Amino acid sequence: MEKDTVNDFYIPDNMSQKIVLQVTILFVLFTISACKSNSRKEISRDEAAGIHQSLLTIDSHTDTPLRFSRRSTDLSKRSDPRRRGGKLDFPRMQEGGLDGVFFAVFVGQGPRTPEENEKVKKEALMLFDSIHAVLDRSADLAAIALSADDLEAISQQGKKAVYIGIENGYPVGKDLSMVSRFYDLGARYITLCHTRNNDICDSSTDRDGPEHGGISDFGREVVREMNRLGIMIDVSHMSDEAFDDVVEVSKAPVIASHSNARAVCDNPRNLSDEMLLKLAYNGGVIQLCLVSDYVAEMPAYPERDSARKVLWAKYDNWSELDDSAKLALEQEYYDINSKYPPDLATVSQFCDHFDHVVDLVGINHVGFGSDYDGGAALEDCFDVTELPNITYELLIRGYSRSDLQKFWSGNLLRVMREVEKVAG
Ligand SMILES: [Zn+2]
Repeated sequence: MEKDTVNDFYIPDNMSQKIVLQVTILFVLFTISACKSNSRKEISRDEAAGIHQSLLTIDSHTDTPLRFSRRSTDLSKRSDPRRRGGKLDFPRMQEGGLDGVFFAVFVGQGPRTPEENEKVKKEALMLFDSIHAVLDRSADLAAIALSADDLEAISQQGKKAVYIGIENGYPVGKDLSMVSRFYDLGARYITLCHTRNNDICDSSTDRDGPEHGGISDFGREVVREMNRLGIMIDVSHMSDEAFDDVVEVSKAPVIASHSNARAVCDNPRNLSDEMLLKLAYNGGVIQLCLVSDYVAEMPAYPERDSARKVLWAKYDNWSELDDSAKLALEQEYYDINSKYPPDLATVSQFCDHFDHVVDLVGINHVGFGSDYDGGAALEDCFDVTELPNITYELLIRGYSRSDLQKFWSGNLLRVMREVEKVAG
């Protein structure tokens, strides 16, 4: 632990002081959360839809750029999510009342050699290009967003605000200068790792277990550089120990761009109550996602699981696939899904995560990050057009319009502004 980078929460060198602090946090957060009304309200779908459309809304995580390798991808046209159309395009964002979105520059974790690092860096740069190209083709419908204020400003022009986040710090390689290069290209958060450990930190799901026991020394430099530039640190996908390290080192609040509550659905990709308390103390936000497996424990589906296992084995190294192989992978994935239709969780189960987070840490630390086009789908929120169903469910659970405004963008924008301030 390095004293100069430690925030207040971790000052103590002895455990007793630390425990006193934690109890204080619990008390403060309990007082905040006690304000919540639990009474169910009667409201019509139409009224809820009207409220939803009046809110400023943002989704902090979608993998929509995975579809951009297809030259024909045109987000200005409405497509069918059940026919390989993806879960999101600009007309459907309008229909679903979504004003802004983070597109992920996603690269799957591969070998960490200098050659592979170079290759994956190029892949990430190409993805940035493809996002900017898609936006150029839809300039009348959407615009690139770079600051917290841009969401409202772009929305007022009648356009959709598109932010960029990098999912997986792999393309940073061991070259710290890449962080500012990605910032210049529009990146406003970096998810430090993905499903495997990398040079920055440990993943929550690496089959070989932890490697650094948290974040690496290089990872600490990356976090400081992100603080300096004004890039949000995304803790989704990282191990619990890496999470602890990051909230210690970061001078700015952090986000979990697409994760849920582990107490409601026990999955390593979700945040434990202890992590949620630390996240709230840090001033950060958990952006709840719509991946059914992280929303609820889904019934076993051995036929589909083994079909998928065969598929993942066949396309083992994502970063080495060319466009036609990616298309083939996508087709085979859709074929498996139509042969074995997936069981999906519901909006009601999703809102149980919202209730839990609010009960634990209050309304100021919860937001929305679907993971559409990266595995997200609920029975009654299959694509972006069905987002008003979430607002409806939260309204009948007794949440106010102002609570919903915080959830749909207020909390994330607060964190983003704080990150901008720390950099400034
Ligand atoms: Zn992810």
